[in-house]
Amino acid sequence: LTYCKRLPKIELHAHLTGSLSDETVLKLLNSKLKCVHVNLPKSAEVTIRRGHRRTLEECFQIFGILHYLIDNLETVKNITRDVIQEFASDNVKYLELRTTPKSVPNKMTKKDYIETVLEAILQEMKTNCITVRLLLSIDRSRGIDDAWNTLQLAKEYKTHEIYKNLICGLDVSGNPACGNLTNYIPVLEEAKKCGLKLAIHLAEIPNEAETLAVLRTGLVDRIGHGTFIHPSSGGSQELLYYVQHYHLPLELCLSSNVKCGTVKNIEDHHLAHWRKENHPVIICTDDKGVFSTSLSEEFHLCAEAFNLSQNELNELCITAVEATFQSQHEKQKLAQLIQNELKSCT
Ligand code: 5GP
Repeated sequence: LTYCKRLPKIELHAHLTGSLSDETVLKLLNSKLKCVHVNLPKSAEVTIRRGHRRTLEECFQIFGILHYLIDNLETVKNITRDVIQEFASDNVKYLELRTTPKSVPNKMTKKDYIETVLEAILQEMKTNCITVRLLLSIDRSRGIDDAWNTLQLAKEYKTHEIYKNLICGLDVSGNPACGNLTNYIPVLEEAKKCGLKLAIHLAEIPNEAETLAVLRTGLVDRIGHGTFIHPSSGGSQELLYYVQHYHLPLELCLSSNVKCGTVKNIEDHHLAHWRKENHPVIICTDDKGVFSTSLSEEFHLCAEAFNLSQNELNELCITAVEATFQSQHEKQKLAQLIQNELKSCT
């Protein structure tokens, strides 16, 4: 674990709300308790500790509780600050955060929410040794109109005078059992026309028809989870073909998948199949708070389960650079930084 902590890491799949640490959730609970007199869960109930499991449905209930706690701009600023500082102190050098724009009547609009997150990102980049970018999330359970609205907001902030360099794309997430991603393809087409990159949760649960329809469009830039894509993990040759054809990096979140039960054990994780194919994989946390983990711990789990050497761990850090949603010039700079840090690591 010490070596994994020292590694200069890149995090490409982190949902803001799911990344809240116990400390941050406790602060939120305490300030909520000052305002309302209801029975709220203890912090431990919104995190899933080592060895414990919850179904995907139960995880989505946890997000509901967290969203209930994040109901004003001061809180949005504080949680964004805490999450960035925690990634920075885990030696994450580049972070792509993702979040679903939210509004609370009389308290904040979606624009307020986004601007507060972006402002906190700018602030934290000044004082921490980390580069942060933002993806706006489309929540597939909220319907197509909400998705168009999220795209509109992303377009607006992508050309915003102050924040334009911070928004790099869209994420599509939300409960995979809700809705059908095929209906969202027109939104994704429009997003690509506007220069937004797309990271899409695909095949998190078995759904070959939907996954194939989305992959065939050629619009996807990165895949989140992709658990049921490889033929050896319940997918098919055709799905594998498209992922390889478009050379789509996979954002893999070991603890998340095992704790939600979409993968039985770490040793059975589809990461092994993709490594055999020599296909680019990125180790990510997904929701470091909810799943009670850190990026260093995910690297450590991966090293233990698949017997990875220090060189192989270094390679994982380097592979991630190419998968970032940055310009070629920015990638070169980041690659240089990672290489330099790796030298002092070994
Ligand atoms: P937020 O967008 O509020 O910052 O982060 C929490 C949201 O991210 C959840 O409500 C959900 O839409 C999405 N999310 C977090 N983890 C997962 C996951 O493992 N799978 C999927 N499909 N969505 C997730």
